[in-house]
Amino acid sequence: MSENQYHIEVKNLYKIFGGNPKQAMELKEEGVEPTKIFKDTGQNIAVNDVNFQIERGETFVVMGLSGSGKSTLIRCLNRLHEPTYGNVIIEGEDLVGMSSEKLRTVRRKKMGMVFQNFGLFPHRTVVQNVYYGLEIQGVSFEERKKRAYDVLDMVGLKGYEESMPNELSGGMQQRVGLSRALVLDPAILLMDEAFSALDPLIRRDMQDELLDLQEKMQKTIVFITHDLDEALKLGDRIAVMYQGRIVQIGTPEEILTEPADDYVRNFVEDVDRSKVLRAEHIMKQPLAMVDSKDGPKAAIRKMRSEGISSIFVVNKKRQLQGILDINDAVDLADAGKRSVSSALRTDYHEISPDTLLIDLLPLARDAKYPIAVVSEDKRLLGVIVRVSVISGITRDYDNDQTSNGSSQNDRADSEEEVNE
Ligand code: ADP
Ligand code: MG
Repeated sequence: MSENQYHIEVKNLYKIFGGNPKQAMELKEEGVEPTKIFKDTGQNIAVNDVNFQIERGETFVVMGLSGSGKSTLIRCLNRLHEPTYGNVIIEGEDLVGMSSEKLRTVRRKKMGMVFQNFGLFPHRTVVQNVYYGLEIQGVSFEERKKRAYDVLDMVGLKGYEESMPNELSGGMQQRVGLSRALVLDPAILLMDEAFSALDPLIRRDMQDELLDLQEKMQKTIVFITHDLDEALKLGDRIAVMYQGRIVQIGTPEEILTEPADDYVRNFVEDVDRSKVLRAEHIMKQPLAMVDSKDGPKAAIRKMRSEGISSIFVVNKKRQLQGILDINDAVDLADAGKRSVSSALRTDYHEISPDTLLIDLLPLARDAKYPIAVVSEDKRLLGVIVRVSVISGITRDYDNDQTSNGSSQNDRADSEEEVNE
């Protein structure tokens, strides 16, 4: 594996504040705890042997309590802080040891940073703030103005280009901060608590906006937050930091379901699973399906053998055609009908696999039939019955959770659905 297959690779990274890192490292080698090292010597190991790799286009969230070293870490990534030891490899090139001239070029071409306190120039208009970086690079007035207008349009600030920052709300100001980074079109965005100063509702808007933008932009994003909900919402992967160390790296589901230690467990204990788990995590293999050309007798046989009262019907491409109720099937059979297609019902819910549980709850509550999980081209991917929604929220997703479900479970689920 070559190094430059990763967009960002951090190896054995340390940042030690206090001016005598050798002393700190010696004590650390002797097994002295960092907190004691700090108390005894004033040497603060703010980033302690951190290692990770980030893929191109990934949103990598670093989460941890205040003081755990998040800001120090992200500032090492563009050498706003000089790492004490270790490597920061961007697109295969180690930033550590790079000449300051080269470093400036790499920063300018590849990295943009967004801070918590926006950091706008108060006496410049919005557009002047946004094109500042282009101005520094000597881009012509016409060109930089056009590019700044385009980016402002993209983040929903059309019409505010000539406003002053203090005329804008906090959320809008942070959009300007984001625009200022985006206008330079960096491959990497470093965002340090970028939304933490915003009111909860505005903050959620910004998170949604970032997710939307990211779908188009495909940047590599390192996003710092102390907020678990934000981390779970935004992160492809999350690194949990504690006292300068990364104690776990994993997908949101992994962090939630397999916390590496008590620190992470405490962190995730109160989280609302319904806001993290999605339909695809709780859906089951469709029990049985019949082609719409099949007759009612075949359908009845299948439903009986599976112990279910309704069955989804698909075509040859597995595309969902409708659902057949057992009562309708019996009527069809009694009437001597050969095909079930005349009796197909469509009053069931159809959702995509990335639907959040929280959005599923109201559907499941009054659903007559199982919920169908379908792909964009309407292929039936799975079914969800009410009880799986409930257990998806309450149950610890441990290892004996089989993704397809045993037939025993399926029967129980179907029974409940029959009884309601
Ligand atoms: P976080 O961003 O997770 O809140 P920081 O990276 O800001 O944490 O801080 C980590 C530790 O490093 C803290 O103990 C903090 O006091 C210390 N620290 C941060 N910046 C400096 C600095 N410039 N000089 C000395 N110590 C610092
Ligand atoms: Mg910080």
